[in-house]
Amino acid sequence: MTDTVTRGYWSRAAETMPRERLRELQWAKLRAQLQHVYKGSPFYHARMSDVGCRPDDVTGLDDYFARFPLLYRSELLAAESAAPPYGTLAAVDPALAIARHQTSGSSGQPPLRTFDTARDWAWIADMFARGLYATGIRPGDQVAVVFGYGMFIGFWAGHYGLQRIGATAIATGSMDTERRIQLLMDEDIRALMCTPTYALHMAHRAEQMGVDLATRTNIQLLVVTGEPRPQRTRRLIEKAWGAPALEVAGMTEVGTLIMFECGPDAPGMHVIETDVIEEVLDTETKQPVGYGERGVRVMTTLGREGVTMLRYWTNDIVVRQPYHSCSCGRTWDIYQGGILGRADDVKKIRGCLFTPSMVEDVARSFDEIEEFQTVLESIGALDTLIITFEPKPHVTPEVVADVATRFGSAVKRAVGVTPLIRIAEIGSLPRFDMKAKRFTDLRSTQHKEVNVDAS
Ligand SMILES: [Zn+2]
Repeated sequence: MTDTVTRGYWSRAAETMPRERLRELQWAKLRAQLQHVYKGSPFYHARMSDVGCRPDDVTGLDDYFARFPLLYRSELLAAESAAPPYGTLAAVDPALAIARHQTSGSSGQPPLRTFDTARDWAWIADMFARGLYATGIRPGDQVAVVFGYGMFIGFWAGHYGLQRIGATAIATGSMDTERRIQLLMDEDIRALMCTPTYALHMAHRAEQMGVDLATRTNIQLLVVTGEPRPQRTRRLIEKAWGAPALEVAGMTEVGTLIMFECGPDAPGMHVIETDVIEEVLDTETKQPVGYGERGVRVMTTLGREGVTMLRYWTNDIVVRQPYHSCSCGRTWDIYQGGILGRADDVKKIRGCLFTPSMVEDVARSFDEIEEFQTVLESIGALDTLIITFEPKPHVTPEVVADVATRFGSAVKRAVGVTPLIRIAEIGSLPRFDMKAKRFTDLRSTQHKEVNVDAS
């Protein structure tokens, strides 16, 4: 992997602000935000009145952290269904919306809908611009954006963030993988924005087409987001593309990116602390944990006038490190290794803690495995992992059985439980360009009665 990219600050003053000054800025912005939502948002007005956290009651950041109630996704959904489509959270008239988004509503959950005003949208693009500039995107760059351009927020904010920098955003929404690869070979496109899964998928497809992406395209940088990017996945992407794959992250609830890697050697992602306040809390006690300890991210947004998140429990597992653990000079703290997983992804199987990313990490260490799916099922009252994998086309039938045995042993070593391994036909498992779903927990649905409506 060669790194030829120049990096630096989008806004030196904001990115190197002394910590004390940063805290003052956060409190000033938060105070204004509390006044704004108390006045405009029925949801927050009621909540703040109920618990004695009206704008004048909150005395400072520490008081806010200690007393302001946490906000959960279930509450967002309830507030939304109380007054569809956007609910009672918004602090301005939805008629001001210039953009509308919603989550995919997968896994049986209703979608979360949200909107942005013109001012929100400007902030959203600016947030993305800061992150992208730090990764190395510059004015004049041609950047291919790989995503569906639908209702899901995905890379919408990234598209506008690129324009904010002065780069060209190339929307490849309607193209299939082959046409996208062809585009990268035909034109001088310098960077690619996609999910880690899709960067790997393109690499696999290119290999089948006999194309070496590292030499046949001019991609010098990949900006990946949308899913966790385990180190092994990162190395595979960087090897195939011959360029660094830097990570940025955000979420639908805020509409944009809020953290980014500042270079290939960054210990993790810097949080844009001028515009979001992040706390890390213990999963069970909901009390703050210190630097270097695992906990759940709790987010407060400071830049959006329509929909504001105040102490939102994101379910993202992180480990926070002080800013000086990175050498770039930014004073914004870091999430070491990025988002490490989701609190609701952690399962217990026969006494062993399990997360789906453990299987991903093992699968990515096998050169013979193209795709995989994991199902957790109760078989004879015993929790069982069933992993189905699809071999790469070049793997001969004689070798596949051996791969299955070695794969099973490697998963056993990583997880502590022996899985059932199944082999799928080539091309039969689902592929993903957004929101990869490779894990299903069937245990909770197995013993329920199912009523079939035959009418
Ligand atoms: Zn840094």
